[in-house]
Amino acid sequence: MQIYDSKERKKLPFKPIKQGKARIYVCGPTVYDDAHLGHARSSIAFDLLRRTLILNGYEVLFVKNITDIDDKIIKKAHSQGVSIQALAQTYTDSYLKDMDTLNVLPADITPKASQNIAQISNLIQTLLDYSIAYKLENGDIYLSVEKDEKYGSISTRGSQDDENLARIKNDSHKKDERDFALWKSYKGADDEGYESHLGLGRPGWHIECSAMIESSLAYSIEESADFAIDIHGGGADLLFPHHENEASQTRCATKREIAKYWVHNGFVNINGEKMSKSLGNSFFVKDALKAYSGEVLRNYLLGVHYRAVLHFSEEDLLFSKKRLDKIYRLKKRVSDFAKAESSKESSQTLPKVPKNEFCKEMLEAMSDDMNISKALSVLEEMLTSANASLDKTPKDKNLKSQILQNLAFVEELLGIGGGDEVAYFQQGIDEAQKSIIESKIAKRAQAKKDKDFALADALRDELADMGIALLDTPQGSVWERVETL
Ligand SMILES: [Zn+2]
Repeated sequence: MQIYDSKERKKLPFKPIKQGKARIYVCGPTVYDDAHLGHARSSIAFDLLRRTLILNGYEVLFVKNITDIDDKIIKKAHSQGVSIQALAQTYTDSYLKDMDTLNVLPADITPKASQNIAQISNLIQTLLDYSIAYKLENGDIYLSVEKDEKYGSISTRGSQDDENLARIKNDSHKKDERDFALWKSYKGADDEGYESHLGLGRPGWHIECSAMIESSLAYSIEESADFAIDIHGGGADLLFPHHENEASQTRCATKREIAKYWVHNGFVNINGEKMSKSLGNSFFVKDALKAYSGEVLRNYLLGVHYRAVLHFSEEDLLFSKKRLDKIYRLKKRVSDFAKAESSKESSQTLPKVPKNEFCKEMLEAMSDDMNISKALSVLEEMLTSANASLDKTPKDKNLKSQILQNLAFVEELLGIGGGDEVAYFQQGIDEAQKSIIESKIAKRAQAKKDKDFALADALRDELADMGIALLDTPQGSVWERVETL
């Protein structure tokens, strides 16, 4: 397994702290609004990494936090007259629901900042005890960046002349403009405060992650003296200052690095595209899900390498859907065999570990820093050759069994193709339309029985006008939407 490490700026062989194990922490959302396409893409990128590690035999512990204490949450909650807890819960729920719809595996642990105040304040206390942090008269606590010789080693940013620091120059109380807040004391009615031994106040964003990593998945110092966890991930926008600051806090407080590998996913560029189709100008996942299924959206978002910028376009999305169509078309061709197999008492669950060349090649591609283009071209070849083989030997049970195994592996690795193949080709038809279609099909079956072929043909034409295609099978007629979106 090879992963691109943002700190070393190159692909490195993945050598975990403990053999056979992988502990991953990904910075989760700040829950003050609905999830946008950037969140979806990041979640899918790390979901693919997790699936790849699992299929390589690693025992993965995957943690993604929820930042439920933040200026933006406080501001929005106060402007809406609701508690910050209620607002944060609303958006936590909608985030988790959206990610579930995208078939992102739920994290093993989902720690929340508000539930880790003791751990956070203890970590800050350690930094105060070491004189690395300092307290202002107003009670705010900052980390003194000059005390950390390795500051900047993750992002190669953060030097005194970094122009990105200009925006935080106004805070005149700090000793150094690079210093960042660990704790903000309670400032009155417009603020929120949590009780802690540091007084009433709230943590800064960066320290939340350092503390949650220590409390939820870090190896103990005895187990690992050099690194707390294997992989720290997040969007490319988090590299600086967020991850630099997380790394600094942990290094200064625990004398070890927070993570052995740093993985960052690229942005989703939406403003560069004219959004004129069904999505309008929205970049919220919930709006995209009104127009497209979670699987269609996932299939699109995973198709661009996780480190590249994804220029969101609905045309590309529709084009990428052809891949899903092909998967489900093949699945449909072997569905009778699959049903017969699953009804057998002796049938076993399909193996997760790659058993054949196709599975091995897919996994190899994904194990090379998630080379999705390679993986998708291997998939494309399999789909084409499986169809050609089925054309030649449509009753070959070994072939069908192999195809099912391949499709099951694709589902495990990429998280697509796991749905019902009949329902897939009926997407976008509501219940009322469905009952009209079903009744026309029943009438047509009766007409055929009565040898009224003119009526039967007329009904078929009516369905065709509705965009519905009929496939006559020994079990009766099966219908599909001709254009499924
Ligand atoms: Zn973080």
